[in-house]
Amino acid sequence: MVDVHVHEVGTRDGLQSVPFFVPTEMKKAWCTGEAEAGVHEIEVCSFVPVKLLPQFADAAEVVAHALTLEGLTVAALAPNLKGAERAMQLGVHKINYVLSVSESHNRANVRRSTDESIEDFVRIVESARGRPEGQRPIIVAGLATALGCTIEGNVSEDRVRQIAVRVAAAGADELIVADTVGYGNPAAVRRLFRAIKSDVGEIPIKAHFHDTRGLGLANVLAALDADVRAFDASLGGLGGCPYAPGASGNICTEDLVFMLEAMGLKTGIDIQKLIAVRQQVQQALTDQPFHGTIAKAGLPRGFALAHAA
Ligand code: ZN
Repeated sequence: MVDVHVHEVGTRDGLQSVPFFVPTEMKKAWCTGEAEAGVHEIEVCSFVPVKLLPQFADAAEVVAHALTLEGLTVAALAPNLKGAERAMQLGVHKINYVLSVSESHNRANVRRSTDESIEDFVRIVESARGRPEGQRPIIVAGLATALGCTIEGNVSEDRVRQIAVRVAAAGADELIVADTVGYGNPAAVRRLFRAIKSDVGEIPIKAHFHDTRGLGLANVLAALDADVRAFDASLGGLGGCPYAPGASGNICTEDLVFMLEAMGLKTGIDIQKLIAVRQQVQQALTDQPFHGTIAKAGLPRGFALAHAA
């Protein structure tokens, strides 16, 4: 039994900012390695137009491979109906549809208003519900820039809550609340997640944090206080911001697993195996900055024995 779910997003969030094409075999090996380390959900790719993000030109092949890994929930990001339908046809288990709470960020990202993106989400839910039983993926609504935006600065908590309620009413099976640019702090995180939970009731909510300003794990702790039990993270903290060279990206999977396990919260993930995957991925991405402390410092003496699976 797992106390806290840790989901890998480096294969999507991390790779989308890597400026060269990472070989398909490497992406497959990454998924295999993490699944063997006990990670039970991976966002393996993004179904964006290949013109915009050539990194994911091999999405179909990566998904096909990930679907062979036993016990793994295969998730993919889709920015629109077209991408979501392609992901459904390929049999992904879960579709993470992302819209930005910040109007300006949404327009910059997908050239549509937030309202138009919500209408698109409604069509994705309808499309999924129209599929035969057993072939319906879980449909997730991701709310990006929920704790701040590089264009607008502050994002109003009321607006995040209103959009969360709208996508929940539209039929979201799960929500992801994302601090896409690392603007959040623990007080804001605790308040926002508690508020959304009370607004949407039973729908599972996952947190997606970036460590851009060093508050990533502090924000995890605040979200745990608000009863959040699922987190996205990226191996080696990959996924920095293209506008802030060298800045750290997503919270680091190894460090997050370490913190949770050290606190007595079971993740089902073997940190040593995770570090071995990190080394393998790092060899393929030599010039990319890898973050995180556990892979560098090693586990504290006595830790491995106490937390052996
Ligand atoms: Zn992210």
